[in-house]
Amino acid sequence: MQTILITGGAGFIGANFIPYFLENNKEIKVVNLDLLTYAGDSTNLLEIEKNARYTFIEGDICDRNLVEELFKKHNFGGVIHFAAESHVDNSITNPDAFVKTNIFGTFNLLDVAKNFWMESPNVYKKGFINCRFHHISTDEVYGTLGETGLFTEETPYAPNSPYSASKASSDFMVRSYFHTYGLNVVTTNCSNNYGPKQHDEKLIPTIIRKATLGENIPIYGDGKNIRDWLFVRDHCTGIELVYKKGKLGETYNIGGKNERDNLYIANKICAILDVIHPKEKSYTDQISFVKDRPGHDFRYAIDASKIENELGWQANESFETGIQKTIEWYLKKYK
Ligand code: NAD
Repeated sequence: MQTILITGGAGFIGANFIPYFLENNKEIKVVNLDLLTYAGDSTNLLEIEKNARYTFIEGDICDRNLVEELFKKHNFGGVIHFAAESHVDNSITNPDAFVKTNIFGTFNLLDVAKNFWMESPNVYKKGFINCRFHHISTDEVYGTLGETGLFTEETPYAPNSPYSASKASSDFMVRSYFHTYGLNVVTTNCSNNYGPKQHDEKLIPTIIRKATLGENIPIYGDGKNIRDWLFVRDHCTGIELVYKKGKLGETYNIGGKNERDNLYIANKICAILDVIHPKEKSYTDQISFVKDRPGHDFRYAIDASKIENELGWQANESFETGIQKTIEWYLKKYK
């Protein structure tokens, strides 16, 4: 039975991906390497704790000895790399951790995988021919858009925050291991995710939590910043497809064609709460505008036609169906 390494699986997307992947791939074992930073939550994975095909290792992707030991012990046949510092606001106050984990950590994993799987540039060792490194990245590497246009895989990189700059650097490192050594890599650049298991600090959990606590719902600037929102399960199906069928060395954008501005999102969540969790006054009364984030990108929007046309991927949820499921999940969590 093949074993793959998943990094950062106790975070939001990884913790949605691993149970989904184990269920869909009964012939694969998963080792989850996660440092359990403030963003990792092992209770996110309670549902698979007893699964015989799942192993959790608490540790740092920057720790070369540990990563080498794990490769030797488990003979990994693939890597899906989620681990990262992921919150833009934290990257403004503390960029160091982003450089360390996102850039050095990615390099460390790539280099160990290359040495373990390959004899020399473009020559894989016997038994490791199809081993693949899948790097999970973001659409934020492309910078910001005006009112129109979409990010394609050809859009030049123009990261604007220390977070997106560190992710862009990691994407380049992955690219270089393909072009220099012939390592079997694929990269996916996804738009903003939402859904169950996301950290409380992020926009949508914050809106739901503040609303139900009766506190002000903080919206940056005028609330007109636009993101292309994808339900996390749709991201998981895209990752699985690219991991299994994506072309070697290629990058794929993943996005749900669900552009919504922050104010729309806050109003939509309040309107749903007014129906399913009513109180005397509408939740919309709690929306309040706060000073904008420095360097706040105006708009991100993805052209996902490459993954749709080449691999047959499609998002199942619209923002309106996905947000309903998301609110129901957080209401249970926050009750
Ligand atoms: P997250 O912050 O919720 O989780 C990150 C996980 O990585 C945590 O469990 C944390 O403990 C772990 N981690 C951090 N540093 C580590 C280290 N040095 N060694 C081992 N583990 C470490 O992030 P997320 O939202 O699940 O994002 C996962 C990946 O997807 C990231 O690479 C992110 O850039 C990318 N991405 C996220 C989004 C989004 O909307 N959340 C969109 C596109 C791409």
